Amino acid sequence: MAFKKDLEQKFIENGFTDFKWINPEKIIVSYWVRMKCIFGCSEYGRNASCPPNTFSVPECEKFFREYKEAAIFHFKKKVEEPEDRFAWTKEINMELLKLEKEVFLSGYVKVFLLFMASCEICQDCTKEREVCKYPKLSRPTPEGMAVDVYSTVRQLNYPIEVIKDYSEVMNRYAFLMIE
Ligand code: SF4
Repeated sequence: MAFKKDLEQKFIENGFTDFKWINPEKIIVSYWVRMKCIFGCSEYGRNASCPPNTFSVPECEKFFREYKEAAIFHFKKKVEEPEDRFAWTKEINMELLKLEKEVFLSGYVKVFLLFMASCEICQDCTKEREVCKYPKLSRPTPEGMAVDVYSTVRQLNYPIEVIKDYSEVMNRYAFLMIE
């Protein structure tokens, strides 16, 4: 389809060459993902772009069903030190925001980015959405929107495994919802 070719051109021009399209109906939303946020993730209640600052699970599901297209971007990295992943995350997410803006300005008014990993724009997150320091820039992650990223990206034959420590290669994914 012509519009996809145009968008793909934008992705590539912005340096994002590793992506695949997915029908949003195939984005898998699950309650277990939210359970993992609430019980087991240090970002819960500590990041203004993570739960409980996002929708309920049924609302997340409805959000994805409002779109006809989605692009999934794959990022791969092995860091020297575990803390290095934060700077890498911030850099990628800021670049993705530029792409989201470009797609929006070309007429895709519903375009919405889901960050590759939790918002790391500030060193000290305000924790509450209402007082986020960069409300126009911060975005939730797919996981924060209750997406089972493992099952979703495996449908596209993308690699994803549980990593045992940060000396292993990380495979991370950002979603761009488009219509
Ligand atoms: S922009 Fe800053 S305050 Fe807002 S969610 Fe991101 S890290 Fe937190």
